[in-house]
Amino acid sequence: RNIAERTDKKAYEEAQKRLKMAEDDQRNMLPELRKRSRYDYLKKREEEKLEDLEAEIKDEEYLFASDNMTERERKDLEYKRKLRDLAKEYKKAGAKEHEERKNRYYMPEEKRSKRDLELEETPLELGGEQGRWEEERLRTAALSFGAKRERELGVRQEQERYQLILEEEEMIDFVSTAITMKGTLSEKSHPPLSADLKKQSIQEVRRSLPIFPFREDLLRAITQHQILVIEGETGSGKTTQIPQYLMEDVSLKLLLIRSGLPRRVAAMSVAARVAEETGVKLGNEVGYSIRFEDCTSERTVLKYMTDGMLLREFLTEPDLASYSVVIIDEAHERTLHTDILFGLIKDIARFRSDLKVLVASATLDTERFSCFFDDAPVFRIPGRRFPVDIFYTKAPEADYLEACVVSVLQIHVTQAPGDCLVFLTGQEEIEACCEMLQERCRRLGSKIAELVVLPIYANLPSDMQAKIFSPTPPGARKVVVATNIAETSLTIDGIIYVIDPGFCKQKSYNARTGMESLIVTPCSRASANQRAGRAGRVAAGKCFRLYTAWAFKHEMEETTIPEIQRTNLGNVVLLLKSLGINDLIHFDFMDPPPHETLVLALEQLYALGALNHLGELTKMGRRMAELPVDPMLSKMILASEQYKCSEEVLTIAAMLSVNNSIFYRPKDKVVHADNARMNFTVPGGDHLVLLNVYNQWVESGFSTQWCYENFIQFRSMRRARDVRDQLEGLMERIEVEVVSSLEDSVPIRKAITAGYFYHTARLSKGGYKTVKHQQTVYVHPNSSLFEEQPRWLIYHELVFTTKEFMRQVIEIDSGWLLEVAPHYYKSKE
Ligand code: ADP
Ligand code: MG
Repeated sequence: RNIAERTDKKAYEEAQKRLKMAEDDQRNMLPELRKRSRYDYLKKREEEKLEDLEAEIKDEEYLFASDNMTERERKDLEYKRKLRDLAKEYKKAGAKEHEERKNRYYMPEEKRSKRDLELEETPLELGGEQGRWEEERLRTAALSFGAKRERELGVRQEQERYQLILEEEEMIDFVSTAITMKGTLSEKSHPPLSADLKKQSIQEVRRSLPIFPFREDLLRAITQHQILVIEGETGSGKTTQIPQYLMEDVSLKLLLIRSGLPRRVAAMSVAARVAEETGVKLGNEVGYSIRFEDCTSERTVLKYMTDGMLLREFLTEPDLASYSVVIIDEAHERTLHTDILFGLIKDIARFRSDLKVLVASATLDTERFSCFFDDAPVFRIPGRRFPVDIFYTKAPEADYLEACVVSVLQIHVTQAPGDCLVFLTGQEEIEACCEMLQERCRRLGSKIAELVVLPIYANLPSDMQAKIFSPTPPGARKVVVATNIAETSLTIDGIIYVIDPGFCKQKSYNARTGMESLIVTPCSRASANQRAGRAGRVAAGKCFRLYTAWAFKHEMEETTIPEIQRTNLGNVVLLLKSLGINDLIHFDFMDPPPHETLVLALEQLYALGALNHLGELTKMGRRMAELPVDPMLSKMILASEQYKCSEEVLTIAAMLSVNNSIFYRPKDKVVHADNARMNFTVPGGDHLVLLNVYNQWVESGFSTQWCYENFIQFRSMRRARDVRDQLEGLMERIEVEVVSSLEDSVPIRKAITAGYFYHTARLSKGGYKTVKHQQTVYVHPNSSLFEEQPRWLIYHELVFTTKEFMRQVIEIDSGWLLEVAPHYYKSKE
């Protein structure tokens, strides 16, 4: 009830506070906390109720010495006593039940009947209000699940089914605000969830896509116009079909198609799908190219690539001479790379009249694209979507992860067949959610139908990624737990229910401090509506928003801010400079980055020695631009040449790139894990610890077993090895000799300093002060230098949690600063 009484706003703020906490990188502990909080809260409320009752009875017994009690008062007291006994019994039963449930879900018959008794007797008299409230809760819960038309009997059965699976108190109140996202199809115009869909041949599926009827029109429009904006609902076939139409159409004589997508996973999975549809082996005619992974060959005519890779192609081929068509896909995402592509492609399209440019976008913002490309025509693929009912929670959910789990189960036991899609913000959350769901299902055993829980996020191995597309087994329900990758990039068929906690992870950049971090923030209303739309592809769907209608209206931004306005522009500047674009201030950005940010980026590149005093790219800068990593990191790698320790520095760079997912800390083995981690400690700092971990892994012969024994995540290590191999490959291109430092760690630390001297901090009263901004910061508790507190430090990154922590730090000698960045530090003197 406390929750219900809180104003939306206050509780929403609280939820936000919690979210901040969630960013705390003591994350390993968090799933534990999350699981606990809700249960404890309910438990406590129950106990308080009983305590109140006890106190009341005592008071009354004392006040009314039995003889001067009226008949009515005596009855009252008697009733209260009875109530207390019942409550006690309930509590006892509850505790036992909870114990049992820990092992296996089980609820014996007699207990249930007692519970019914309690429900019928207690609330009606207990202050009245409580009873009414509970009654109402039950009613709305049933109602909000679309049981409006159901008869009393149905509702009752529903409730009983709930009770088998979930504590009533645990259930989430959803309210329907009678808001429906209108679809173009009605519920009746299509059999719900046609199982035939699965039996259709690939060609039939292709023909059934919304884009198919417009194939000829579209091809004609492409022939007639150089630049075409294509707008269509997610899943209409833009990404997979348009390139195929182009390939199939001989009259166009197209040679090479490049499709730039904002996400790695999307590029891979879409390429795989299109290869399957066209019946070729992936990597032959159809391939993909993402950072650190190239799956194409000489024969490739259609290449799906991330927008970042597409941008890099400008380096080798400034006019994209070998391309016939460039597709900027998912343009609405407005990633940094997409935005730069816009400017560059608009520019080259002026003098390459044979180049076709297609801008594909979900139904958002397409007028702006058209406007930017000098009023290019917009080709609209009419949407084909069933209506989606939108539900909001009655009160904000402080713990959205737990709320997701509960909602999935609630849907699973009460709703008609149809798969479920849950939007979370990142890998850790997704894994925690899947774990919790699987755990609960295991306990419930055969009490519920099978629930197939599948994660999807960027770093998931591709065989696991493919699983989300496999058909749901009969009688089961599939739950896909995804990042916003499933918002518009990937379409999973069969989704009827969407659960949307309303958050996403966003890169944000502070121009004053020069820091960039990923933080969990409320998503935009546009995003929320895209998410809801995922529920209406195969039948009328439902979207459960784990926030209030008030929050939707007042707390969410209308649209997501383009990435270019919240990013470190260092790499972009390098890239643009290396493409010969010197006047960045006047570059044709769709939304120009803040002047301040641009100047800061230029300044940093100058300090790193990438630009000379005229703002031109230096030899160093040119080499830095070849490396697909942050300017500071590439400077560190390049500096390793001078200090003859590139072997080590490459490893460190690779390990830093898999960032914070190396050490594994399972809840039940925290002590072991921490000990294992301690064993890797070497003097000097965290970078050297990472190096040590990697080297030991190499010695073990890249062993999985070794990882397991040392609480190291094998997957992260394997990724680090891939990244390292790639970087090593690039070394040759920029002519850096890969050699190993045979002395101590000083050369290595100097190389790191050469890249990260901007991130110097000096010990001062009560913590550290950054040299650049005199900001107070602290060594992260996970750091190997946490207790040592050396005078001078270099940190890899700052994270904002309860305090501003430096993560991955090494000790340096202040004398090195002048040596590695003379023109920067001299000017300071
Ligand atoms: P859009 O780009 O317009 O959002 P897509 O071309 O991505 O649409 O998707 C068209 C259809 O192809 C969808 O029905 C989707 O389910 C299907 N599809 C896309 N990728 C895959 C895949 N990897 N496996 C199975 N089906 C896929
Ligand atoms: Mg698409």
